Amino acid sequence: MTKVLLTGGSGFIAAHILEQLLAKGHSVVTTVRSEDKAAKIREAHPAQAVSGDLVVAIVPDIAKPDAFDEVVKTPGLEVVFHTASPFHYRWTDAQRDLIDPAVIGTTAILQAVARSAPTVRRVVVTSSFAAIIDEAHTADPTHTYTEASWNPVTLADIHRSRPTAYRASKTLAERAAWAFVRDPANGARFDLVTVNPPMVFGPLAPAHYVPALDAVNTSNERVVDCLRGKWRDEVPETGAAMIWVDVRDVATAHVKAGLEIPEAGGRRLFTTAGLFSHAEMASIVRRNFPEYKDLLPTEETKGGELPPENERYKFDNSATSALLKIDWIPFEKSIVDTVNSLKKVGA
Ligand code: NDP
Repeated sequence: MTKVLLTGGSGFIAAHILEQLLAKGHSVVTTVRSEDKAAKIREAHPAQAVSGDLVVAIVPDIAKPDAFDEVVKTPGLEVVFHTASPFHYRWTDAQRDLIDPAVIGTTAILQAVARSAPTVRRVVVTSSFAAIIDEAHTADPTHTYTEASWNPVTLADIHRSRPTAYRASKTLAERAAWAFVRDPANGARFDLVTVNPPMVFGPLAPAHYVPALDAVNTSNERVVDCLRGKWRDEVPETGAAMIWVDVRDVATAHVKAGLEIPEAGGRRLFTTAGLFSHAEMASIVRRNFPEYKDLLPTEETKGGELPPENERYKFDNSATSALLKIDWIPFEKSIVDTVNSLKKVGA
């Protein structure tokens, strides 16, 4: 049993990481920003909340440099998973609402661990394909994204579009994390792993409290839109993020990288199961859920196809696949499980 800290325990991906950690008998301290979210997590895992194997701590504002100073003092912590970071497009001020919580939140946890948690041997940061993709090359078939690729985005670009600002938040946060552990002046006695998933689909974790369909996480919102009839007349473009991975595999990647694969230290893990398109997503829903027929596009409805091969980038995550040895969940299973899970919150 290992004692771990998981930030952002109320999130879509974190809820799966939490369930996998508890199922494997690890002891988890997780952070959320309000007491009502803390109570829901304790209610969802009553046995571990009572035994003390699950402790939920409140960190109200991750954009404060001292946000994690107290929680990292939990005795015996060995591994930290930092997932908390804004992933939505509803902000009013990109710097304040998006960049600061992403970047300051990441350096705050690393600083706190370096200063006050000498038993921590590894920190796993949830980064993103957003930190890999280069918007100038999304239609470039000669461009292959790998674990070594970096998004060249800078702060000066954050007003270009909302997706660009989000990508900047993830890129700048990940850059800051690597810079922190590489600077000896920071005194990090732990190593760093980043997990860089593209679009994450999949069911809500069984114990994850999501009050309504409108509260579903950003990446699953497009499945909700499809079920609600928003794609009936035209399927939206799939966009530059045309590769994906199932949330259960993302959680497994975190757990393996943090606790089970010592040689993951210092690596960026590009976790993807491959290409997907909105057209394929709609057709999977049509095939498996005839009850939504009237709300769905038909086979003839236009839109949502992948760009042709000579108009899209390539990717190669073989280094990550060889290290993690995850048998990536296929797209059809992921979408079927997602829809079944969304039905439970009102779809
Ligand atoms: P969620 O929105 O479900 O989770 C985000 C988590 O971060 C929540 O716990 C949220 O808390 C917390 N958070 C967000 N903003 C703040 C803030 N300002 N202060 C404190 N906590 C905050 O999304 P995901 O689970 O999808 O995202 C988790 C991580 O995975 C993020 O780092 C995201 O960038 C990354 N990611 C996600 C992908 C996806 O397709 N889903 C793809 C690649 C990376 P609260 O519940 O209180 O809002």
